[in-house]
Amino acid sequence: KVRVRFAPSPTGPLHLGGVRTALYDYLFAKNQGGEFVLRIEDTDTARYVEGAEEYIEEALEWCGIIADESPKKGGKFAPYRQSERRDIYDRYTEQILKTDYAYIAFDTAEELDAIRAEYEAKGDVFSYDNKTRNRLRNSLALSEEEVQKLLDEKTPYVVRFKMPVDRTLNLEDIIRGKSSVNTNTLDDKVLVKNDGMPTYHFANIIDDHEMEISHVIRGEEWLPSLGLHTLLYEAMGWEAPQFAHLSLILKPEGKGKLSKRDGDKFGFPVFPLNFTDPATENVSKGYRESGYLPEAFINMVALLGWSPADDKEILSLDEMAKEFDLNKVHKAGARFSKEKAEWFNHQYIQKTSDEALLNMLKNSNPNITLSDEKLLKVIHLMKERATFPKDIYENGKFFFEAPTSYDEKASKKAWNDETSAILGELASNLEGADFNAENLKQVVHDFAENKGLGMGKVMMPLRLSLVGELKGPDVPDIMELLGKEETISRISNAIN
Ligand code: GLU
Repeated sequence: KVRVRFAPSPTGPLHLGGVRTALYDYLFAKNQGGEFVLRIEDTDTARYVEGAEEYIEEALEWCGIIADESPKKGGKFAPYRQSERRDIYDRYTEQILKTDYAYIAFDTAEELDAIRAEYEAKGDVFSYDNKTRNRLRNSLALSEEEVQKLLDEKTPYVVRFKMPVDRTLNLEDIIRGKSSVNTNTLDDKVLVKNDGMPTYHFANIIDDHEMEISHVIRGEEWLPSLGLHTLLYEAMGWEAPQFAHLSLILKPEGKGKLSKRDGDKFGFPVFPLNFTDPATENVSKGYRESGYLPEAFINMVALLGWSPADDKEILSLDEMAKEFDLNKVHKAGARFSKEKAEWFNHQYIQKTSDEALLNMLKNSNPNITLSDEKLLKVIHLMKERATFPKDIYENGKFFFEAPTSYDEKASKKAWNDETSAILGELASNLEGADFNAENLKQVVHDFAENKGLGMGKVMMPLRLSLVGELKGPDVPDIMELLGKEETISRISNAIN
């Protein structure tokens, strides 16, 4: 049975990379008819941020990435919060200490600092490993009596992994293929801290085993831990899950990792979390606040590192799940593009019903007084050019209020000494006209023809009078929407 987990630490808001990991976890699980689990890895109390867990759940929900099992939902392997699983970890701490893969160490932070300084003075780098462990204060170096004495005195200790000497580990990764690492390059990592809480490495493999996780799909930054994790499974006598490490999301320039400090380049989070993270302090908004539609956002995220068959670009979450294939996930980093992100949103705005856009428009602009019927017409006319829902309102402002000034450059182009007289005459022709776009087009056309004027000579100043600039949808469409009274009033404002 395929079971995949997303295991974030509640240390802040979810950024692009985290969302992509969660999404690939989800897509792979769904593609395989398996389960997707959300597990909160909160054993590092120093980095814990209040509210971050709720934030992560809300952000994933907004994206439509719904977990089958989670702290909120519960499930067969509850609890899903590591801080509540202490008894499980205690059991396994006891187990690993009975093997030859772990030992206890009494070194204080001061002692370790002193040794580190000693090495540095010689121009070396200290590492707690098979070359140094014998001269440190641990159960491998001390006699049984000494250890017992320290324990009786309640001396604080940590549990360390005893990295085997000179073994070549053959590692497998679904995306990266085979690699190997010699254990002499790895150190004796702390598995359990002196408060009895396991570190990430130990808690992570225990929970993946206990929760019957079949595939671990996570960020590339965890690749250096794969050797240790593989040995931890061996030490516990467990079968390891399969691993897939996702490449970085790169800055738009293609060089370097897109980071949360790239707020303006869209490294920013799904939406802001109400806390002050020094790294994101200048990031005031997230994708949600910027007007991204969740469907567009995850579609964009999914394609940062994966290409579906036929290079299709627009896919729903279900379609992505049907097609998702870890073997087609790119080994190279994916370059983030703000333009592409906007392109996706534009595409999804076109797919969104006018009624749904109407609701968004009214929610974000509660002061709109136009009738729903008219608003739907505005949406219909403005949608095609909109990247974000707010563009419909901002680019269509002239539908809601008459221009109070006229763009200078446009005026120079559209207006001359005769224009006022021409538009005045047109306005009186419009008095008796039927105000539907098709008829209005004919009326303006006939008027221009009778006067022996080119269409532009009439349309341009007419547009300027109604809009204030030379932009917007077709003039007859604007006139129909504004109605007779407003159209004529705007023309007379402009010519007087
Ligand atoms: N808690 C780790 C993180 O925050 C999880 C890494 C993993 O998936 O193994 O990224």
